[in-house]
Amino acid sequence: ASPSEPIRATLFPGDGIGPEIAESVKHVFNAAQVPIEWEEHFVGDKVDPRTESFLTWESLESVRRNGVGLKGPMATPIGKGHRSLNLTLRKELGLYANVRPCYSLPGYKTRYDDVNLVTIRENTEGEYSGLEHQVVRGVVESLKIITRQASLRVAEYAFHYAKANGRQRVSAIHKANIMRKTDGLFLKCCREVAEKYPEITYEEVIIDNCCMMLVKNPSLFDVLVMPNLYGDIISDLCAGLIGGLGLTPSCNIGEGGIALAEAVHGSAPDIAGKNLSNPTALLLSSVMMLRHLKLTDKADQIHNAILNTISEGKYRTVDLGGNSSTTDFTKAVCDHL
Ligand code: NAD
Repeated sequence: ASPSEPIRATLFPGDGIGPEIAESVKHVFNAAQVPIEWEEHFVGDKVDPRTESFLTWESLESVRRNGVGLKGPMATPIGKGHRSLNLTLRKELGLYANVRPCYSLPGYKTRYDDVNLVTIRENTEGEYSGLEHQVVRGVVESLKIITRQASLRVAEYAFHYAKANGRQRVSAIHKANIMRKTDGLFLKCCREVAEKYPEITYEEVIIDNCCMMLVKNPSLFDVLVMPNLYGDIISDLCAGLIGGLGLTPSCNIGEGGIALAEAVHGSAPDIAGKNLSNPTALLLSSVMMLRHLKLTDKADQIHNAILNTISEGKYRTVDLGGNSSTTDFTKAVCDHL
């Protein structure tokens, strides 16, 4: 695109509070005059046979074409005959790494004020391969798949990310003392990649010890890379260190350079439609999307406006102990731009 042409990006407002917080992002982008044109796609009300899920084929094509998008939370519909929406997105778009930065927000007091770490979760295999079956009555089996290809790919991404973002250290999180073959292979791949990055310190930490260290002194960590299930758990633990799900952004990295940013939280049905949700997680995710697009000035401008609004403390949503509505908070962020 020429400088005057807007960049097209896909937007999935999603379910529950999704449309409210997506509206907030659109507001802030308008106020900051971000040169993005959204292609909005909603989750369908029937299964699309081409995706075997409620996601339409057109919506996936939109992300493939644009290479970049932002996603609100999607509720997992109950019932058979379709695939989970999030799993469909991961598989169809080859979203192999989930990147979650976690840093203390100045002015919002939690137990720690020096958290500054990034978890990088392998997103495609491990215990999430969906291979479960009953062997005999009373005995079931679930297969954990670890491949050299996926492990090298996520390790490469972690070291690349560390170098590109001026980070010093990558810790591989594992349980290879027990899961010798699977986690053993994951570590072997991490070691291979680490050799190519002598400027970055590499260490291996057993997951139980990692949990203890994280809650005792999170500043010990910088970039953490890990297989799927560990990543699921550790990244939520890290979200808790800085104030909860309303604050933490993430970005999924896919094949061919696709980036699909998303808030970490779910559709929050308990507060949906009440103008109570905190749009910060999705706003910070949209900032990650802008950084991916190298729209650094706009990213910095919006990032600072969010941090300043929170640290000023005048407008805070209910989850952060305030009484502001989603729209009041959004307006305050726009005023800080
Ligand atoms: P949830 O994250 O939706 O809610 C957990 C708690 O956190 C609730 O009390 C909720 O009100 C609160 N919360 C979450 N986001 C908030 C925000 N932005 N502002 C203020 N409060 C917020 O988790 P859940 O209730 O377990 O899941 C609800 C649905 O979301 C389920 O269908 C689940 O499958 C789906 N889900 C989707 C994703 C995703 O799309 N990536 C992730 C997790 C859960």
